[in-house]
Amino acid sequence: MAKLYFRHGTVGSAKTLNLLAVAHNYRQQGKDVLLMKPQLDDRFGEGQIKSRAGLEMSADVLIREDTDLFLLDFEGVDCILVDEVQFMAPRIIEQLRTISIEKKIPVICYGLRTDFRSNLFDGSKRLIELADSIEEIKATCHYCNRKSIMNLKHVNGVATNEGPSIQMGAEETFLPACYHCYQEHLAAALR
Ligand SMILES: [Zn+2]
Repeated sequence: MAKLYFRHGTVGSAKTLNLLAVAHNYRQQGKDVLLMKPQLDDRFGEGQIKSRAGLEMSADVLIREDTDLFLLDFEGVDCILVDEVQFMAPRIIEQLRTISIEKKIPVICYGLRTDFRSNLFDGSKRLIELADSIEEIKATCHYCNRKSIMNLKHVNGVATNEGPSIQMGAEETFLPACYHCYQEHLAAALR
């Protein structure tokens, strides 16, 4: 059997860069990695796995809510790497768990633990329940030097904990924050 990994971190913790480095190492050794990410919409460039540092690779598989991973061919695959795993449906996480056991392929998933309201994402919750290994990729708070554990949403430059988890069209940004700064900036925005 092989392991299922969950490597989580806030925004700005270089999760995707970490994923691309792992993919690069495997490929340099002549090994075959399968890169997966969720398909959220049909935006241009949706098929790319892109880090903030500018590196990118093409995703081999785009996963929708109704995707059946058991229909894929895993022959010769040495490792499965999953980006933005927080957006995956729980049933997809369960399929990845089964694949790691039955196909003996390690599955390494990268994503956010919680949303901007501090609630677990569905995909991340299922992973915390099922993963063999849970690791934190650390990042520093945008406002101080503590470790960030929260993702603070800003809409048009103002901190908020309202609106949908995935909002298209608005000028949204997310900043890594420690709990202290998260609370303070939300309170200041409401004043
Ligand atoms: Zn802070």
